[in-house]
Amino acid sequence: MDGRRGITILGSTGSIGRNTVELVEARPDLYRVEALVANSSVDSLAAQARRLKPRMAVVADAAHYGALREALAGTGIAVAAGSEAVVEAARLPADWVMAAIVGAAGLAPTLEAVRRGAVVALANKECLVCAGDLMIAEVAAHGATLLPVDSEHSAIFQVLEPDQADKIEKIVLTASGGPFRSRSRAEMAAVTPEEAVAHPNWSMGAKISVDSATMMNKGLELIEAHHLFAQPEERIDIVVHPQSVIHSMVSYVDGSVLAQLGSPDMRTPIAYALGWPDRIHAPAPRLDLAAIGQLTFEAPDAIRFPALRLARRALQSGGSAPTILNAANEIAVEAFLGRRIGFLDIAAVVERTLDESDAGRPASIAEVLEQDRTARERAWAVIKSIG
Ligand code: NAD
Ligand code: MG
Repeated sequence: MDGRRGITILGSTGSIGRNTVELVEARPDLYRVEALVANSSVDSLAAQARRLKPRMAVVADAAHYGALREALAGTGIAVAAGSEAVVEAARLPADWVMAAIVGAAGLAPTLEAVRRGAVVALANKECLVCAGDLMIAEVAAHGATLLPVDSEHSAIFQVLEPDQADKIEKIVLTASGGPFRSRSRAEMAAVTPEEAVAHPNWSMGAKISVDSATMMNKGLELIEAHHLFAQPEERIDIVVHPQSVIHSMVSYVDGSVLAQLGSPDMRTPIAYALGWPDRIHAPAPRLDLAAIGQLTFEAPDAIRFPALRLARRALQSGGSAPTILNAANEIAVEAFLGRRIGFLDIAAVVERTLDESDAGRPASIAEVLEQDRTARERAWAVIKSIG
């Protein structure tokens, strides 16, 4: 090894993955790449691999194996395909792994990196929602490090004093409110996938953009914060802050509230995780508070955004309720993007799936995956019954 940090990027062609690649490419003196993983975007993956020269490039969708092999012929980069190969990529001895696959599909490779005791930069919040208790236990058992990449959790991580954890009164997650913050339920009933994926402040993948529009994203982040910072549900507040400048806050017993601020640009929290425990330069626009003028706040509306209530309910129930919430939401978002159901049906499908499932206490990852699979089937059955 040459002293540079070895990096693996799971989900390198996505929104988080591309931003990570940009930052890694800017510092060849600090980073070398072990593996790049994508689902099916072969052209984009092959272009990244030709520039970054990883040891291995993997497509999860095996139908694209031939195309990737052809695109990287003669480069000396190992090429593989399929979900086993994704886990194999996570097993390569990278010091630092960006977990940026979307959805519970990221669970197995992220766990593999955790079990090697790697530093894992976690963007893939769904895997913590799906299997948080078991993941956190694995992190402790294998001496791995989880660095949050979600902007809110990166903010909290940056202002939370670990030796004062018992002096925390509240964690306050900020939420932009998404594109439908001030729409009525009647207006929301008619929104299209195109409107739902157009976020006012952040540029992101389709699934998280829809989650932001329903505010399920904030519900998932509530569960994510519970696992990352060991705080109970009632100590995590959510406040809507449409400018997305304050990324979250920690409130202490003496009344002090510490916040982290920045432009809404994911390159800042990704750079924080890449540089950690140091800091590296990121090309995000600098915050100009005088130009912004006003920072505003409002309470979230749990009537218009029932996803917040559902996520709190799942976290309070514990066991596999968050697994079911996440699985049903992934299916409902897919059905909405495929125009099978309306926007308001997303939370309705999640609620009915939760109502119709019995949330056991999964004792192993295999049991979590079984609960996840059953919840997906149930969610599809609910969708068929309404559409
Ligand atoms: P995206 O859809 O833009 O990218 C997803 C990436 O995962 C792509 O590279 C895709 O090829 C890959 N992928 C998808 N399914 C896969 C599979 N089965 N196996 C292997 N690879 C697979 O999504 P994104 O916006 O980059 O979000 C990624 C994760 O980060 C999500 O969990 C999201 O909630 C989280 N996150 C994103 C943002 C953001 O600003 N985009 C912010 C915070 C958290
Ligand atoms: Mg976030």
